[in-house]
Amino acid sequence: MVARLGPLLALLAFGAPLPATLQDPSPLASASAETATEHTHHHQQSVLLARAVTPLADDPSCTPADRVFIERSYQLARQSVQEGGFPFGAVLVVDGAIVAEYRNSTASSQDPTRHAELGLISTFAPKLGREAFRRGTLYASSEPCIMCVGAILNAGLLRVVYGTTQTQFQRVIGDHPQPSPLTIREIIGRTNPAITVKGPLLEKEGLAIHESFWPWALRTWGRDRS
Ligand SMILES: [Zn+2]
Repeated sequence: MVARLGPLLALLAFGAPLPATLQDPSPLASASAETATEHTHHHQQSVLLARAVTPLADDPSCTPADRVFIERSYQLARQSVQEGGFPFGAVLVVDGAIVAEYRNSTASSQDPTRHAELGLISTFAPKLGREAFRRGTLYASSEPCIMCVGAILNAGLLRVVYGTTQTQFQRVIGDHPQPSPLTIREIIGRTNPAITVKGPLLEKEGLAIHESFWPWALRTWGRDRS
């Protein structure tokens, strides 16, 4: 597997562009310049109206490398917003190198299952094979939801790191219909305790992304699309 992944890892070294065959196939680049401008215009107001949520401390067991890859997942989340999507990103790292990235594409695809984590797994599992997921670490900009944890369990992943706690970013959104979601640790603890879960990490940075996005999104789109 190492030999097979070798050239791929080299191609996908941190910061390198994905080869065309491994790029997220969703039409994320379709957001119009107008949409981006409109968002920028509303951005200033949004910041003023966002709820202040105090970030939780970093999980002390996270490593310096974990910080680097959570930072990358936050970059993807911000990129998704710039492209007219929702603020979530995910990264798969094998042997210290990024082998797959995905941004939430539910808005552009109109497919509600296209969360960053599930989208990454369903897009890249056929290309990378199960061994890459078993040996890899999945980084998620926000704590994976129950749907994505199901995909994580089925993908054979054994290590997951998340940036922003789900309950924390839901506080930014306000009266969310699921104010007390099942946490990934609760689900993993009941289903496969062999999986290591780390997080939160750099939550202040992750909350800032949500604080600048959701007030604008809720005013623009209403609650149905959130
Ligand atoms: Zn999800």
